[in-house]
Amino acid sequence: MTSRPHSTRPIAARIVATLGPASESPEVVSKLILAGVTVFRLNFSHGEFAAHLARLQTVRNVAHRLGRPTAVMGDLQGPKIRVGKVAPPGLTLEAGHDVVFRAGLNEGVVERGVTILPTTYPNMIREVAPGQRVLINDGAIRMLAVDADAARGELRARVTHGGLVTSGKGINLPESDVKAPAITDRDWTCVEWAVENGLDFLALSFVREAREVLELKERLSGMCSIRHDVDTSGKGSSIPVIAKIEKPQAVANLDAIVQAADAVMVARGDLGVEMDIAKVPVVQHRILAACHQWGKPCIVATQMLETMTENASPTRAEASDVANAIFDGADAVMLSGETAVGKHPVLVLETMRRIIEAAEEEQNTAAADARPPTRIIEQKYRTAALAHGAWHVARDVGAAAVVCWSESGGSARYLSQTGFRIPIVAYSSNPRSTRRMGLLRGVTAIETKPPPTGRLGDWATQVEKDLLTRGWVKPGDSIILLAGKPLGVPKVVDSMAVMTIGDPTSGYRS
Ligand code: PGA
Ligand code: MN
Repeated sequence: MTSRPHSTRPIAARIVATLGPASESPEVVSKLILAGVTVFRLNFSHGEFAAHLARLQTVRNVAHRLGRPTAVMGDLQGPKIRVGKVAPPGLTLEAGHDVVFRAGLNEGVVERGVTILPTTYPNMIREVAPGQRVLINDGAIRMLAVDADAARGELRARVTHGGLVTSGKGINLPESDVKAPAITDRDWTCVEWAVENGLDFLALSFVREAREVLELKERLSGMCSIRHDVDTSGKGSSIPVIAKIEKPQAVANLDAIVQAADAVMVARGDLGVEMDIAKVPVVQHRILAACHQWGKPCIVATQMLETMTENASPTRAEASDVANAIFDGADAVMLSGETAVGKHPVLVLETMRRIIEAAEEEQNTAAADARPPTRIIEQKYRTAALAHGAWHVARDVGAAAVVCWSESGGSARYLSQTGFRIPIVAYSSNPRSTRRMGLLRGVTAIETKPPPTGRLGDWATQVEKDLLTRGWVKPGDSIILLAGKPLGVPKVVDSMAVMTIGDPTSGYRS
């Protein structure tokens, strides 16, 4: 697969779109990729494996046809607690009344005027203490625990804000010390499916501690898929793990979690239920800053263009939210229901793209400083240091682009995290690496083979041709090249060259 040229300069920020009934057709997937989606999300909280597989195959086929590396992320549900079965039309809870959660109940009932609800996590009856909040349906229904009767397996709560409860609605217990395992049996089944089917990322929900991220990474390293992880077989799966920050405990352990994870998601949906909503913007700002220090891509997620699930245009506040996430340094922004079940999956994508374009145009006109990931620079990684140096050289020569051969994606990540305002182009012969670059802000990933001679100078000539075709450079422009020998091997990048387009003696070619 070689990438098809596109003449317009792509947006730097990446867009993650959730697949669902509204977006699963090849036609819509194709339009979404062309409009800027570089990562699709399969939400394991909904749907069967057969449906996920069909969507995965559609993305792989369409991406191949378009010549656009496109990643697919599997989102693990984690220890999400839900209300069990409730017969339609549901049960109405009224403020001031009591509700009982009962272990072992098959279906919600009303007994002597008291609503009794089943829960998917019976241990909540022991783990919720009196006075702690119990929230249902994203906090729309609120109650306070009154008392627990472990012997009878019942937890009684008093409703402070009522509403209609239906089957499967989420339960949040923000103040309780919930002991549920971070990765449930059902999640492990999804992990195996993800490895077997060669997914590009796994997102882990309701992370509380770094240990949980490390546990998943360790289990993954022991799994290998014969079909897809060909070049790592025997070494296990290297699927990068995205830690979803949506619990106050995760915010408390932020630094360690960011360090352990390969990427991070500001999961504002559950975060806004689990924490005081007034603090969500502050937490978003802090997570973005921590990710940047550790050089980890950060996705801002949930309700970004929520009203476009129904409407043909967003609210002013939503447009500002997307732009401000970009100004705040988000590597990627995510769409959930907007593309999964919304009425305008393609229009919402185009709208998001236009907002990003305008924000980046503004950013690109302002003077910028290099902003290398400080915690990475401290560790004296050669490639991170080269990326930092490349920023200064690029500015001083007025470079039009910075280009690297990044076989496994590491150099591309460090370049991305250094804050270039010019296109970063990353070549790799590994299709998985190019797909995973879909989370790297500013990076255009190109899958290609190294030149047969293996010479850096021959690669430079290939780059020159490629960038001229894309219309990103013209004769006389300078570009920065980063590479190492042999091309096509991971972790060899050790040099930098300045190349003048049209000068056959520059850029590794003399
Ligand atoms: P979810 O995660 O959509 O899987 O719940 C994102 C969030 O909570 O914001
Ligand atoms: Mn969530």
